[in-house]
Amino acid sequence: MTETGSITTEQLCLWDKRHVWHPFTQMQDWERDEQIIIVKGEGCWLIDSEGGRYLDAVASMWTNVHGHCRPELNDALKEQVDRLEHSTLLGLGSEQSIILAARLAEITPHGLDRFFYSDNGSTAMEVAVKMAYQYQVHSGRPKRSRFITFRHAYHGDTLGAVSIGGIGIYHSTFKPLMFETILAPSPYCYRCELDYRKETCTMNCIDALEELMVQNAGSVAGVVIEPLLQGAGGMIVQPAGFLTRVRELCDRHDILMITDEVATGFGRTGAMFACQHEDVTPDIMAISKGIAAGYLPLAATVTGEKVYSAFLGAYSELKTFFHGHTFTGNPLACAVALKSLQLFEQDNLLAGVQSKIARLKAGLSDFSAMPHVGDVRQCGMAVGIELVADKESGSPYRWEEKTGIRVCLEARRRGVFSRPLGNTIVIFPPLVISNSELDLLLTVLQESIRIVTE
Ligand SMILES: *Cc1c(COP(=O)(O)O)cnc(C)c1O
Repeated sequence: MTETGSITTEQLCLWDKRHVWHPFTQMQDWERDEQIIIVKGEGCWLIDSEGGRYLDAVASMWTNVHGHCRPELNDALKEQVDRLEHSTLLGLGSEQSIILAARLAEITPHGLDRFFYSDNGSTAMEVAVKMAYQYQVHSGRPKRSRFITFRHAYHGDTLGAVSIGGIGIYHSTFKPLMFETILAPSPYCYRCELDYRKETCTMNCIDALEELMVQNAGSVAGVVIEPLLQGAGGMIVQPAGFLTRVRELCDRHDILMITDEVATGFGRTGAMFACQHEDVTPDIMAISKGIAAGYLPLAATVTGEKVYSAFLGAYSELKTFFHGHTFTGNPLACAVALKSLQLFEQDNLLAGVQSKIARLKAGLSDFSAMPHVGDVRQCGMAVGIELVADKESGSPYRWEEKTGIRVCLEARRRGVFSRPLGNTIVIFPPLVISNSELDLLLTVLQESIRIVTE
């Protein structure tokens, strides 16, 4: 018997290994190793079929905000399901999607008030890319068809999203299927591609970006950037002011600025949206992960009048944005998203997060001194701890050693679930994590790093 159901853990494991193909997972390892089956959630904790408890250090793939099974969110979902489970936005309006868009327009950067819904981060970015290009077409510049992206960027796993990505190990296999982009250097200061050191750097990667804009003048539709933080690339934190400079360059060269706030949105960085730290308003912004507090798949591509109005015209002009997904604007997801925004206010969550960011920062100072910690990067409630084979030279562990994975397995044995990015250990907890849970998380991760690397 499991914690809640009538099917034994043994049976669940058997069926899982026989039938479920897990994402980003070498299934040969998965089928061989012992696996955990989650059956319940409570606050920041996940509970397995044998009653084991794990602190959810990565907010269930960076989505959870207010904790698992939060009663107010559960009630909002239950209420909505008794009114309407789904109705299409193709040809009909739908109550919850309307209220949510109006509410989101109040909190997104000024001027961004047109919401194109979809279901996940990848689709939100696909929409952004197609929207940006079609905008250029409608503006009489069909040759502007290329995108500048950054090395180590991650924008999702559909083909368009993969094309604008910059992570070799995920993306190189699919190269023959991808469209070409212009790859700019990542502001990854610990491993600067341009070989600058912190002392001599004057944000030279921005100059490199401008050079690419000049070289490709007339052919670039947009620059695509994860603001402040490249997430899946290894929790790479940009130097302050970088985003502002990108905005300036986009203005100077008349290129659309597309920000991917899929990971950074909804309070993760300490502001509602990361671009608000630098008062930057992009032309197009993608939001997803935290939008429905980790409950249901939901996303939106947000833009303002400049882009939106370029799509207006007589039907025969064919300016329609021919794109859409079946479950667009799903009422259940929108109802939970609305309640989540209410909780942000009711709990004064953004204010509370500031002290947790400070506590996290203080706790992280112990990690920097560890002999195999090369770099510790924090952006609000998102952290990357990069483990290295040699601290002096910064030379990385060989990926085959699975150092990051082994550290996370040690942590799991001690009741903390995290998922690494290569050899970078990730901390990305639900925003409501308590001080004592945060302390526990740090203690366990430190101990786990020590056991594996020392
Ligand atoms: C997770 C993520 C995506 C992709 O979102 P999915 O919902 O997994 O498709 C896109 N961009 C960023 C920055 C992400 O972190």
